[in-house]
Amino acid sequence: MKSKEMRNLIEVSHFVYNCRKCGLCGNKTSGTVPYVCPVKEHTEGFEHFFSRGKIIIAQGMLEGEITPSPELAEIIYACSLCGNCQTQCAMIDNHTGLPLVDPPQVVEAMRADLLREHPEWIDQEYLAMLNSAKQYDNPWGMPRTNKEKWMKGLSLRDAKKEPSEVLLFIGCTIPSNPVVSPLAQKAATILKLAKVDFAVLGKNEPCCASVLKKVGSFDLAQEMMQKNIDSFNALGISSIVTLCSGCYHTLKKDYKKSYPPLIPNVYHIVELLASLIKKGKFNLCKKKPLKVTYHDPCHLGRHMGIFDPPRDVLAALPGVEMVERIATRENTICCGAGGGLRLFEEGRLAERIGEASLQMAIDIGAEALVTACPFCEINLNAGAKRLDFPFPVYDIIDLVEEGLSTT
Ligand code: SF4
Ligand code: SF4
Repeated sequence: MKSKEMRNLIEVSHFVYNCRKCGLCGNKTSGTVPYVCPVKEHTEGFEHFFSRGKIIIAQGMLEGEITPSPELAEIIYACSLCGNCQTQCAMIDNHTGLPLVDPPQVVEAMRADLLREHPEWIDQEYLAMLNSAKQYDNPWGMPRTNKEKWMKGLSLRDAKKEPSEVLLFIGCTIPSNPVVSPLAQKAATILKLAKVDFAVLGKNEPCCASVLKKVGSFDLAQEMMQKNIDSFNALGISSIVTLCSGCYHTLKKDYKKSYPPLIPNVYHIVELLASLIKKGKFNLCKKKPLKVTYHDPCHLGRHMGIFDPPRDVLAALPGVEMVERIATRENTICCGAGGGLRLFEEGRLAERIGEASLQMAIDIGAEALVTACPFCEINLNAGAKRLDFPFPVYDIIDLVEEGLSTT
């Protein structure tokens, strides 16, 4: 590819040249790191499936030694952008503490260049998702009205008409999938009981563009983000609370970096729940005992450092006993659904990865796995179908709402 056709990769080429090719990102194991790369672990494990191989490909492209092809494009999409390779990589700037190699950024940049220059090489599933985002303002091909169905009977405020402190941002994934769709109503019920001054956007809620950026549609994502920033800033809200780790990561990181930046503060619901519980804003009653472990979503935990609030919420739930599995906090293992991986191989690789996450919960004797992201919940439930026995997966919102409903 010519230089101008690799403009995104060139922008992150310092990450490529800082890599020492040591291979820790594929081979490290320890008591808390069962494996690093979920894609390497759950495929044939070839070099190109993990970070070092992808960085070698990037260097080959930059130096003109590797000519991109449809096969190479497929390899670049075999990555969940979970970031564990970056966490386990020893290449850190001693002065700033920042990583010197950022493999997810390199992968995203290669996707952006390949998608722009050779859309004909990209799997139809990704292209359909991008078309849906343009046509319906959500990646999942659902009619806009699906975003307001869950609001029926709740008498919620419309953020466009009634000034409120908080915008409850549901995201596109929750209304699109019956496994997670009850979360919107449950979250709103909790916030109403806690007397939070909030509103929603219903069918006018836009796609945050998280998935679009992650699969490489940088230009479309940028266009949508800029439009959303203008409309969020005009709402007069002081904060946005998201239910999805992907939305949270994008709104908090990418929107805040844009110009003009997003003005409202961005929180994930686990942060708000932890704070409401601490302030005694609602009572939680005793439930039948349940031993759970927590799956840190990559885009909430490792990428954004939100580790304690979900654990504080679980600790406050009467009857819930929380045990830590291996691969926890920054060493968490991807659920398999990140970076568009559920569209890869028709979801088979993602489900194998999800099953492995569940197995770690089963191994420590947990009776359920709890997470805080609809992508994780959907994929872990899909992974659970591969087991020989039922194993429940909950969102933390499910457990809080359950505690409330019987008070
Ligand atoms: S990304 Fe980091 S861990 Fe992986 S090969 Fe390069 S320097 Fe080593
Ligand atoms: S981001 Fe995750 S899936 Fe992608 S190469 Fe790194 S460890 Fe593997």
